[in-house]
Amino acid sequence: MPEDDIAPPTAVETVIIGAGPVGLFQIFELGLLGIGTHIIDSLPQPGGQCTELYPDKPIYDIPALPICGAQELVDRLLEQAKPFKATFHLGHEVTEVRRLESGRFHVETALGTRLDAGAVVIAGGVGSFQPRRLSIPGVEAFEGKHVHYRVRAGANFAGNDLVICGGGDSALDWTVALCGKARSVTLVHRRSEFRAAPATVAKMRDLVAAGKMRLLEGNAVAIRHDNQSALQLEVRTTDGGAISIGADHVLAFFGLHPKLGPIAEWGLQLEKRALSVDTEKFQTSVPGIFAIGDINWYPGKLKLILSGFHEGALAAQKAYHYIYPEKRLVFQYTTSSSSLQKKLGVAPAPR
Ligand SMILES: Cc1cc2nc3c(=O)[nH]c(=O)nc-3n(C[C@H](O)[C@H](O)[C@H](O)COP(=O)(O)OP(=O)(O)OC[C@H]3O[C@@H](n4cnc5c(N)ncnc54)[C@H](O)[C@@H]3O)c2cc1C
Repeated sequence: MPEDDIAPPTAVETVIIGAGPVGLFQIFELGLLGIGTHIIDSLPQPGGQCTELYPDKPIYDIPALPICGAQELVDRLLEQAKPFKATFHLGHEVTEVRRLESGRFHVETALGTRLDAGAVVIAGGVGSFQPRRLSIPGVEAFEGKHVHYRVRAGANFAGNDLVICGGGDSALDWTVALCGKARSVTLVHRRSEFRAAPATVAKMRDLVAAGKMRLLEGNAVAIRHDNQSALQLEVRTTDGGAISIGADHVLAFFGLHPKLGPIAEWGLQLEKRALSVDTEKFQTSVPGIFAIGDINWYPGKLKLILSGFHEGALAAQKAYHYIYPEKRLVFQYTTSSSSLQKKLGVAPAPR
């Protein structure tokens, strides 16, 4: 489509790239300064590593919270950021960030969302999480249509013949959830031990014993189109046999791996696969683009959540000066500033 036919990008004050713990706290820090945010994450839910990699694990080094579950921390950060009504764009990977002549920024996602931002804060952690794919020649031709690495709604697979690959929580949870709803379910895992919750593994074994699903120990090695069903998946079993399974869909859950991806292509100076920043503004090599949390690097950097919170507080101040160079910023405490309390929607503290 010619550029002239495309609607102009939405003008916003700031864009935060990454809705991990540090990006979520940045909504709060910018909000206190009266700056509105749009926050974008390639994952379908906020929380970054905390939610994706270790939601049930306790964290012991968040100041004033002697013990806090990783998902609990994310829930608390979302609650704290609520008064500032950020717009969330979840399931969107940011593919382009470009500084315009005006000093503003063009931000675009893979799904075509286009924003025109006064400043950009990158809180991209270790990069956007990508699913590990089936390593079978020619699998690309089936991906998205018959081979899936993420399930948004189990109902989409009701009445179908399914092969589920993997041995972790996602594979086992979906096996148990879809057994009985799908026409058939075959679980393929490379070994007899599973990494999933023991109770779910036990449920799966009960379903196998009751003849309601099939369990194969082996690896998927080939995939091809088939006349009867959508595809044939060939599985090499650990005892050396080969089994061909007709299926409508293959759901493969091999976990996620982070990919720095597009962030490395925005012309920002990199150091050790992270964005170089100064420790006064946490600004990257491009004025107006800030980087906080695990994505940045400076001498002495510690990849800790609390470091990201500190970086966010300073970056917010500098982002304010970047967007509004003519305005003065008065330093205030939340305890005693009635204007901050108004922004937070809390009753003024007694004098
Ligand atoms: C097992 C484990 C235990 C840990 N325990 C602790 C602990 O006890 N204490 C502690 O302080 N830290 C701990 N950490 C580290 C902590 O989780 C990280 O420091 C923290 O998550 C960093 O937060 P972040 O917001 O910077 O990045 P992340 O949490 O990585 O979030 C970044 C987000 O950015 C998104 N993103 C990246 N690129 C793009 C793009 N192009 N478009 C859209 N979205 C994008 C990603 O999808 C991701 O959701 C632990 C980490 C692990 C793995």
